[in-house]
Amino acid sequence: MIILMKKNATGEEINHVTEWITSVGYQTHLSRGVERTIIGAIGDDRGRIQLKSAAFLPGVEKVVPILKPYKLAGREFQEKDTVIQVGEVLIGGPAFTVIAGPCSIESEEQMMECGYVAKKAGAKILRGGAFKPRTSPYSFQGMEEEGLKLLKKVGERTGMPVVTEVMNTTDVDMIEEYSDILQIGARNVQNFALLKRVGLCRKPILLKRGLMTTIEELLMSAEYILSSGNGRVILCERGIRTFETATRNTLDISAVPVLKELTHLPVIIDPSHAAGHAKYIIPLTRAAVAVGADGVIVEIHPEPEKAFSDGAQSLRPEQFYRLMDEVNILEAAMRDGIGGLQ
Ligand code: PEP
Ligand code: MN
Repeated sequence: MIILMKKNATGEEINHVTEWITSVGYQTHLSRGVERTIIGAIGDDRGRIQLKSAAFLPGVEKVVPILKPYKLAGREFQEKDTVIQVGEVLIGGPAFTVIAGPCSIESEEQMMECGYVAKKAGAKILRGGAFKPRTSPYSFQGMEEEGLKLLKKVGERTGMPVVTEVMNTTDVDMIEEYSDILQIGARNVQNFALLKRVGLCRKPILLKRGLMTTIEELLMSAEYILSSGNGRVILCERGIRTFETATRNTLDISAVPVLKELTHLPVIIDPSHAAGHAKYIIPLTRAAVAVGADGVIVEIHPEPEKAFSDGAQSLRPEQFYRLMDEVNILEAAMRDGIGGLQ
């Protein structure tokens, strides 16, 4: 339910309403707009009838049910875009944010090289996997804590915030110590225990869409994190599984405008895991800028043929420099309006 406060509602009235909602067993989430305050009452459906009597409290304009199954993630609850700040970087604002780095952290030398290239090219956030979700148990599983230390070191050295994947609830505390953003990978999008656990984190969460997840299911997964207390969720479309085999997955580009309509959360694209081939990353990044995504997360490697994971889709440094040049040109064109179109 949403409790819409009157435009002139006082702070005291807002406090009284939130206390009353809590007393009937619901959690409250405040959204302060320019015009008025909206209070989201989040809890299970059983107390709905009782909640409706909030309409009689002083300062309340009306009580309306949220029709969508996701509540905090929806535009009904919060109309304006969420902008997430990590260090000095903003995700979800006017700028197109590029996140880059290797699929896996492999060595100090490799990570340093990736950090140097990412920074020089103009990427804002550094990625690197230390715990890798691999289809085969015989594939490289990641450097774990040793890798996290390298990631943090290179992030600090280059002045970029870092993002890495967490696969297990028991690793969350450790990863939160080293990383500025925690990634929930495609395979864990419906690991509800993990979603609830990262909902308790103070760091933003990069939530990837699963291989077989609908847009609504993705938003419900985001809802687990939001309703557990962490409002800083970045959604990521990274390709879904279809009948097509020419690419590793099929990039669902339409997910971006659909998500932008349904949610206030930032939406980025991962062209690397969507395509699976380095040669498609630049065209798909162009599409990401043009479709209105808030950024991309791209895999790079100094020597892709020697990568421990996802070499085929990793860009060489010179390819990444080219990608950034194109992003800058397209971003400016989008900002200025293409050919006078707005
Ligand atoms: C990754 O980012 O390296 C990764 C494994 O991504 P995804 O979960 O999208 O497959
Ligand atoms: Mn990868």
